[in-house]
Amino acid sequence: MSDNVRNVIIIGSGCSGLTAALYAARANLSPLVIDGHEPGGQLSMTTLVENFPGFPEGIQGPELVDNIRKQAARFGAEFMSGHVVSLDLSRKGDGSGKKPVKVSLGRETLLTRTLIIASGASARWLGLPSEQALIGHGVSSCATCDGFFFSGKEIAVIGGGDSAMEEALFLTRFATKVTLIHRRSEFRASKIMLDRARQHKQIEFLTDTVVDEVMDVGKKEVTGLRLRNVKTGEQWDLPASAMFLGIGHTPNAQFVGDQLDRDGDGYLVPEGYVCSRAPGVFISGDVADRHYRQAVTAAGTGCMAALEAEKYLEEIGK
Ligand code: NAP
Repeated sequence: MSDNVRNVIIIGSGCSGLTAALYAARANLSPLVIDGHEPGGQLSMTTLVENFPGFPEGIQGPELVDNIRKQAARFGAEFMSGHVVSLDLSRKGDGSGKKPVKVSLGRETLLTRTLIIASGASARWLGLPSEQALIGHGVSSCATCDGFFFSGKEIAVIGGGDSAMEEALFLTRFATKVTLIHRRSEFRASKIMLDRARQHKQIEFLTDTVVDEVMDVGKKEVTGLRLRNVKTGEQWDLPASAMFLGIGHTPNAQFVGDQLDRDGDGYLVPEGYVCSRAPGVFISGDVADRHYRQAVTAAGTGCMAALEAEKYLEEIGK
């Protein structure tokens, strides 16, 4: 095999990819991490993280992810920016199954013996300029991460699926009132979750309602939402100290095509914890996790993927 074949390439530089890089680097495998379009992943967009073990006072999300990056770099992990557009996992060649996997970044193609896909999932946003300006200042897509900061305040949750119900229910621990805002009057949420939210006395439902603007960009904090009833056109302002999006996530796995198993929403489906049907190709973090989506679980599967990659390389004699 030629010298330009890497031992480990990791797609994604969030908590999972960087933890995989740390483990692979400490195993002297000189992993290469491809940053992707959201370097640092979802942690880079949060503020204080209080539930990552080991930080009794909490740690800022960007600082946490930067620390893991430095920790991996210290043991020899390398980084490059780039956007993976496609993979060739067929290992076509000599029939030995040991030919490298191909990772295409458009103009450049990289070769690797093992690949860890840790490309994450991106939270969906409404796309309003005022919403984007207030991310991390009262606008959040993670109730578990940021709910605590709005103790004793009024909070709005957007969405009509299980995520929105779960966020609304969770946020009642902190908020004096949670207003759940959904653009239709029918819900995608499961009956049990919807009933639970409907029966909660702190949760108020607003249906057929959309957000036109998040206020107040000038003050760099959320003070309220300008809402509109889609049936009547009526517009009004709802006071709120935070807006949580529960409108779903999109797994970043388009570049995989149909070479690995994916579920109906595009999430990768691992075999066991982190293996895939392609030899030497491993999957970790939120790209395969619609359920837990925590920094610590992403780090955990990143660790597992690196250990599996190490084992695979040993098996093929590298
Ligand atoms: P989802 O089921 O796709 O629901 C997304 C919701 O957001 C829908 O109600 C949708 O409205 C709304 N939405 C999407 N884009 C919007 C926009 N631009 N503006 C306003 N509203 C928008 O996503 P999910 O709730 O994240 O659930 C995904 C999957 O994970 C589901 O299979 C769910 O059961 C599962 N899940 C399970 C649990 C649990 O069991 N504890 C918790 C979370 C998620 P429309 O309905 O009008 O399209």
